[in-house]
Parts: sequence; structure tokens; C-alpha cells
Amino acid sequence: MKCRKCKAQAEIPLPSHNTAFCRECFSAFFTGQVEKAIRRHHMIEPGERVLVALSGGKDSLSLMLELARLGHDVTGLHVDLGIPASSPAARAKVQGFCQRHGLDLRVVELEKEGLPIPDVKRYVNRPVCSACGKIKRHWFNRVALTEGFQVLATGHNLDDEVARLFANTLRWDASYLSDQGPCLPAENGFARKIKPLYRLTEYETACYAFLNGIDIHAAPCPYSGKASFTGHKRLWADLEHTSPGAKIAFYDGFLKNGRPAFARLEQEAGLPLAPCARCGSPTSAEICGVCRLALTVAERRAADPSLQSGGHAG
Ligand code: SF4
Ligand code: ZN
Repeated sequence: MKCRKCKAQAEIPLPSHNTAFCRECFSAFFTGQVEKAIRRHHMIEPGERVLVALSGGKDSLSLMLELARLGHDVTGLHVDLGIPASSPAARAKVQGFCQRHGLDLRVVELEKEGLPIPDVKRYVNRPVCSACGKIKRHWFNRVALTEGFQVLATGHNLDDEVARLFANTLRWDASYLSDQGPCLPAENGFARKIKPLYRLTEYETACYAFLNGIDIHAAPCPYSGKASFTGHKRLWADLEHTSPGAKIAFYDGFLKNGRPAFARLEQEAGLPLAPCARCGSPTSAEICGVCRLALTVAERRAADPSLQSGGHAG
């Protein structure tokens, strides 16, 4: 098969675009999709500082590299979840990557913040992934605001976005549907949130990471067994196979026709936000959800009889 652009030997087939590219033209295609996303949704204005959430996986590291190559002022943020089986390895990959490319990095350690994920799993009565997601979003936003970043970028790709949109649509969850999109404006104490990889599939991001020699953290989180969306992603892979381009058509169609209607509904129902009395993050209650989690964990740790003799309870 020949490269669509330069007719050299193609190395990377792209079924969803009914085409294939050589290495150089694939890189140009990848950059073009990121630039298109940024331009179309006014994601980054000239001179703005961008904080990039780095988990150590292929998506976040590819995003960081590409934004840096495009000349944006980027700093990475890694949240060390404090999971002994996976967090040290993930952190090492992120630190190694940033060092290699000369990129700035901030690290938040949940152990130091009193909220390591194993304790959340043990002491908080809710699905660990939902609490973990909430804690990570809280820290991304908090660091962005306290350190003067106007933009917060995450590595969500097209497959992530379509799977999430599909799940929200199956439930007709108006609140989540109004809040989904590749660029959420800064408001109510939240930094602007952007997803510049939203036009690229998981496969395309994996190709980019591989071609650029990015050393990624690929081991799954030990708590990921019940991670949602896996089934939906499989379903969409089948659909994409029979109808190439179905994913981006579904997502673009939502942005054009569905989202504006849900955004209107949400505006009418929105609650006023004020700073959390404990950490200053915006919340509709006196104390934000993450501070409430931290207080619950501290209380239950202190009362945990299995920690009394070990001296960890504090
Ligand atoms: Fe957090 Fe769940 Fe992801 Fe593990 S799988 S990092 S617990 S959200
Ligand atoms: Zn708080």
C-alpha cells in the first residue's frame, strides 16, 4: 500500500480514514488534527500557559510532546496516587519523559495530602474510580488556578470521548451531556479545560507514541478491573470497522446538534458556586467534595483498630 500523500511505501494504515501514511506524513496528519482541534474550538490563545495532566500513559505524554513541538508554553502535572503496585512506576515514566524533553513538571503526592487511593478504597463507601477521578480533577484545577495556568489540557482521545458520550446518551444524562466537549470555558473558578487529541483515535495516538520513541507506563492500575466504557469501546470498534468514520461523525454531530440543547438546560439548573472553606476550590456546599473525602479518610483511619498498634493512625 502507498502513502496517500507522498506515494512512498505506507507504514501506518488508518482504516477510519480509508487510507495509509508513511511515517513523515502520519506525523503531519497527527499534527494537523491537533492544530485543527485547537483552532476550531479556540483552545489556546497566544501567550497562555497550559498545564498538561500527565498520567504516564501514551495519550498524555503524546499530547505534551505535540503541544511543546507546536510551541505552546506547557508544564506537566502528575498526580501520584500512592498506589504501591503502580504509582512509583508511573511517576518514574513521567519524570523520565519530562527530563528527556526538557519540560517542566509539577507533582502532587496524594499520600502527603492525606488521600492516597488505597485509603480511599478502604475507607470511603463509593466506587474507587469515581472518587479517584474526582480527586484528580480537583488537583488539576487547583494547581492550574493557584499557579496561574489559564488552560488545563488532558489526553482524552476520540475513543474515550465517544465511549463516554455513548454511555451518557444511553442514560440520557442531561447534566453530563451538557458538560461534555473538547473545550469547556473557564468559569466559576475553574480553568478552561481542553482535549486537543479528541479527533485522534487510541490507535493513532499509540502509533504517535511508538514512532516518537515515548517510553510509556503501560501497566494497568490494580483497581482498573471494573473500569467502565470497555464494553462500549468494543462496540464502537465493531461499528467503526463496518462504517469507517462513524466515531468522529457521531461526536461531531453531538457537538453541532446535541450539545447546544443540553447546555441550555444545564444553564437553567446551575447552582451558584463559592470557594470551599477548607481549600478554596469552587463548590456549591460549604466544604468541597474532595475535602469531605479527606476528612472521612482521616476520621476512619484514626478509628481503624488495625492501625492502632502500628502507630499509623496519627
Ligand atoms: Fe484511579 Fe480507577 Fe484509574 Fe486506578 S483505574 S487510576 S483507581 S480511576
Ligand atoms: Zn476543599
